[in-house]
Amino acid sequence: DAPLADFDPEVYAALRAELGRQRDTLEMIASENFAPLAVLQAQGSVLTNKYAEGYPGRRYYGGCEHVDVVEQLAIDRVKALFGAGFANVQPHSGAQANAAAMMALIQPGDTILGLDLAHGGHLTHGMRINFSGRLYHAVAYHVSADDGRVDLAEVERLALEHRPALIIAGWSAYPRQLDFAAFRKIADLVGARLMVDMAHFAGLVAAGLHPNPVPFADVVTTTTHKTLGGPRGGVVLSNDEEVARKVNSAVFPGQQGGPLEHVIAAKAVGFKMAASAEFAQRQQRTLDGARLLARRLGAADVAAAGVSVLTGGTDVHLVLVDLRASALDGRQAEDRLHGIGITVNRNAVPGDPRPPMVTSGLRIGTAALAARGFGEADFAEVADIVAAALLPTFDDATASALRDRVAALTAAHPLYPAL
Ligand code: PLP
Repeated sequence: DAPLADFDPEVYAALRAELGRQRDTLEMIASENFAPLAVLQAQGSVLTNKYAEGYPGRRYYGGCEHVDVVEQLAIDRVKALFGAGFANVQPHSGAQANAAAMMALIQPGDTILGLDLAHGGHLTHGMRINFSGRLYHAVAYHVSADDGRVDLAEVERLALEHRPALIIAGWSAYPRQLDFAAFRKIADLVGARLMVDMAHFAGLVAAGLHPNPVPFADVVTTTTHKTLGGPRGGVVLSNDEEVARKVNSAVFPGQQGGPLEHVIAAKAVGFKMAASAEFAQRQQRTLDGARLLARRLGAADVAAAGVSVLTGGTDVHLVLVDLRASALDGRQAEDRLHGIGITVNRNAVPGDPRPPMVTSGLRIGTAALAARGFGEADFAEVADIVAAALLPTFDDATASALRDRVAALTAAHPLYPAL
């Protein structure tokens, strides 16, 4: 029963080094967050030892009386959080949740209509070599070249032309809200099912800062670790009992074996957190921070360097930076920010002229910093640092000064002091 540090010093050292990295840098990858200590504790618990195939009260293994309590808490809390009639909290990840939801709603060979990966969609929304593109006939809709927003006229045109069995609304890189009522109308027009993947914006929905897709969709899927701020994992929600029954069977035994009850416990803790007033206030800071960043990156000095913000702003937790007119490409910009202690990811912009490994964009998110306690003044400073790093005046002296400013911010907001 040796502790990790003694039993496996190599893994322990890497784990401590990662804690140090998270503490000493500004985490601005839009899909990331910091799970609170209580979530880490639940996830690192003895529940990892338990097999519990089945669902609460209907298990294929003995000894499930305590994991039943945990899983039922997770189900009840996430239902209440999003106003859903049914919830499955067992998907190991967002991709698994999507695979199960699709398995429940449609058949292999059916047509699906989702947002193009290169325009902000996710791999599981129909990418060619993903299961979604191999099992189903995938057709993609796009954002409009004029305003960078999802082109609903195209969605309707493609739906009428291809008669999809399933329409998917949701995104991994898009700075605006989707019109769920409009998607519902198009789905009804062609007799399609509607799936909303709210993986990215679920935290904003929980806080009441983004429209809730649950009343409009046949199924809603989400991850639990992005804006929602819990452990890594997935969830499927529905208001339709028949759909929910099919989802349960698609998750287990359709896609998975034993559920990760330690992760489900951590999900339950995360959902409790997400129902709190403190969480709502944190989501507000997330949103305000992203808007501040978009404003700063739309200012004249940045514009003169050929840098702009897609759609001219944001309604969510992220900003998409457009570097098509800049000498700086996505990879160089990501490396520059990394060099001063800010972690972001480069991201292709619609119609990107540069290759996928280089790209002409950055995706920058504010959820993790908001979890760290960043407020308006901090985000203004962050925005100014990011802007300075993208200007042509950037040199070694600037880098050094910006690194100091990043260090001041991380020092002012200690992360995981108890660890
Ligand atoms: N759906 C969307 C919209 C996502 O952005 C992601 C993750 O990036 C996923 C699903 C998949 O989640 P996971 O990485 O947990 O499989």
